[in-house]
Formats: sequence, structure tokens, C-alpha cells
Amino acid sequence: MGIQNLESNLIKSDDFNRITMQVCQHSKLKNNKLVTLATGITTAYNIADNQLREFLIVNKISKILNEMNIENKVLLINDTYDPLTERYFERLIKFDSNLKNFNKFIGIPISNIPCPYGCHNSLGEHFHNGLIKKLNSLEIYPVEIFSHKIYKDKTFQNLIEQILIRHDEIKNYLKVKYNLGYSDGLFKAICKKCGKIVATKFKFFKNIKVYYKCKNCGNESKTSYFNGKFTWRIDCVVRWIANNVDFEPFYKNYLTKPNGSYWVSSDISLKYFNFLPPLTIQIEYLRYDKKLTNPTQFLPIQIIENLYLENFHRTNRFNRYAIIAKSKNFRYPSGISFYQASMIIGCLFLKNYEKTYLEKINQFVFGFEKNNTNIFRKIIKNITLAQNFYETMIPSNKKVRLNKISDIKLPKNKKDRLLLSRILRGEKIKIREKNRIFTLLYKILFNKPFGPAIDTILNLLPSKYKDSLINRLCSDIL
Ligand SMILES: [Zn+2]
Ligand SMILES: [Zn+2]
Repeated sequence: MGIQNLESNLIKSDDFNRITMQVCQHSKLKNNKLVTLATGITTAYNIADNQLREFLIVNKISKILNEMNIENKVLLINDTYDPLTERYFERLIKFDSNLKNFNKFIGIPISNIPCPYGCHNSLGEHFHNGLIKKLNSLEIYPVEIFSHKIYKDKTFQNLIEQILIRHDEIKNYLKVKYNLGYSDGLFKAICKKCGKIVATKFKFFKNIKVYYKCKNCGNESKTSYFNGKFTWRIDCVVRWIANNVDFEPFYKNYLTKPNGSYWVSSDISLKYFNFLPPLTIQIEYLRYDKKLTNPTQFLPIQIIENLYLENFHRTNRFNRYAIIAKSKNFRYPSGISFYQASMIIGCLFLKNYEKTYLEKINQFVFGFEKNNTNIFRKIIKNITLAQNFYETMIPSNKKVRLNKISDIKLPKNKKDRLLLSRILRGEKIKIREKNRIFTLLYKILFNKPFGPAIDTILNLLPSKYKDSLINRLCSDIL
């Protein structure tokens, strides 16, 4: 197979069933027992929600494969031998301005930089764990792979040695075919003296040692081949072959022709290792209003998936209004939309997580199946999302809030008071204009002519509050 045939490895479709079928066929062609789907990241800083798209895409394909009973795994390959760059450093101090002194680590691999908070082995591991927590909250559970460990894994020693032995040949091929320079060679050793990986020049490979010269500190030495990594286009070949990857999505800059890394790494994989490179799709970043917090903090998984999977070939920009529209479309099993649920939960004055209360919330707001063992955790998670959505997304003029029972203004009119007490008691009221009851209730409860689903609110009022309301209403009637 020549590079010309690689064109078809870029799947153009945005239909997930089609993509999955193609990935499946590709894996079969390679006689693989299971389908391997890969994602990549460098956790040099706190990973923001706009970088989560590829994980949701790959997870979607994995879900389809699971439905088809096809064994598969999702890999998260963390490029932990990548150095802390200026750009990463900027993101790091944007996240925590106390870390300004970390500029001294610029150029050092993130697996060799200490954890800023002293709780992990390295900076890379700290933010890796943060990312994993976020992915788990989206029900994504990838196999975690650290690139610095791939290089140290004896299983891949032969593969890495093969590349180092043919270093000059491959380097020359990249120059002639792709006009790619690499004046410092294809392998970046970690300098034994200053610890930096960015400034070393590869000299040669002999007796499984890499000989290098560091342009930063002047150190000239040799080191084990696993104390360093290949430049990206070759490193990509290593991670594909080492993990037998069948599919990996890439952003546009990896897919430009002719020498975007995907195409070059594919060519090298085939030409030198007879390895059929993974299929890919082109994805783009998500952009959202900077004033918004990360969407995973206030949206349920289903809305996140919807936002992230839609038009993944394009850069999606979404703002408050787009998110509110989606929140009105998504409904819980109870039939209540996420928007309504957040209004109900946001305006209730009791933030009470007693089990019986949670059951009530589930019954009237969410309506999840009760046979789920994690039902209460699920309810609390959804309450938290709904509360966060209420705080961040609902405009203040739409917000209604019952902070305490005395916030409820009782009607002055005796007839209305009687009517309300009967409604609270759960009596069925026959009134010609049904809307009048609601308008009345909203005025009473929220001092506004509108509000969230009123019967749900009434049903969720804890009985002692309901009783106290009825007592207050009836005190002068009786
Ligand atoms: Zn830590
Ligand atoms: Zn050095």
C-alpha cells in the first residue's frame, strides 16, 4: 500500500454509525481481536472543557461498538515526555497565578516537574488526574497510557531501537520527501545536567545509548534511549504501533497536506514498519463565551454530548442562548425539561438532601428508575448541575427564589386565601379559568406572574412548610 491509498483513511462522514463501521472494518483487516480507539493530550495545565471533544467522540464510537457487542477499548495517551512550553506555562498561571515560579521548569518534561501542590508524583500526573475525574463524571473511563512509560516499557525496546538504528535514513527520507528539516535530529534526549528535553541535539546511537549535546547548558553526554522521546511525527508512529491503534481523531493542523503529522506518521508507519496506520476524522475546537464557567459544571451528560458531537468538523461557538435552547429540549424521564428542573430546584428554599426528600425530587423532577444502585448519587449530581445552571444561566429577572417560608406572601383577599389553602391540601379545584389559579399561585409564591412548574413546586414543599402555610392561611378564616 502506498501513501496515495492513505487518502481514504480520513473519514469524511459525520454519521457516527458509518464512522464506526469503517473503523470496525479497518480493525478486521488487521486481524485485531479488539478495536482500539485512541485520544491524546498533554496535561501540562488544567484541561478546559473546550478540549474534551475528542474524548466524547471516541466514547460515542465505543458506545456504538458496545451495542454491537464488539470488544473495544478507549485509550487516553498522555504525552508526559512533552516539555512545559511557554504556551503551556501561560495556561498554567492563568489557572493558578501562584505558580509563576514554575517558569524555571520550562523545557523540562512534565513527568519530571514536581506536583505544584505536593499531592502527586509530577505536574503531569496532577493535571492528568483532574482530567480523568472530569472524564469519569461524563461516564468516560479510558485506559490511561503515559508516553514516558511507553519508552521505558521493555516490550517496545526493539521498536524504539529499530528507529534509532535507522535514524539517519528516516531523517533523510523526511527531508527529501516532505522537506522537513530536523537539524537537531529525530530524537530529543533529556539532558542529564539541566533536565531539559528541548535543547538537546541528537548525535548518534550506539550500544543502546543515545549520544547528545545540550545547547542549553553545554553538557555533552550519553543516556539510555528511554530518557527521551522522538519528535512528534516519529513519536506518533511509536504510540500507534505500541498500542495497535485503529482510530484516532485529529485537529486540522495535524491533517494539512502534504506534511501534516498524521500523513507523515502514517507514511513512516507503513514504509518502515508495515503497520497499517489508524483511520482518522478531522475535528475542530469548541468555543464558548468566556464569561461562562466550564459547561461540565452545569449541564447533564446528554446535553454535553449533544453540544460536543454536533458538527464536530467545524469550530462550534455557543453562547448562553444556545445552551438555554438545548436545556429546554432535553427532558428527564419525568417529562420535565432540564431548564424547568433547574428553575424548580433553584427556587426551592430547602437544600435538603435527606433520603426521603431526594426520593420526592426524583419522583417529581427527574423520574429515574429506582432499581439503579447509584440512584441517590445520580439525583444529587443532577441537583448540583441544576443548581449550578440556575446560578449561572438563568437571567436574574427570570429568577424566583424562596429562601425561607416567610418569603411566601399570602393573599390579602379572604377568598384567595381559602382557595390557596385548598390547593395546598391537594383538593381538586373547579374554576372556570384554570390559569387564574396559576397566576394567583405565582403571585403568592414568587411575586411574579410566571414561574416554574407549579404543581411540582407544591409537591416538593416539605410537609411541615406546607402545613405551616396552611395554618397561616387558615388562621383568620376559621
Ligand atoms: Zn497533585
Ligand atoms: Zn542541558
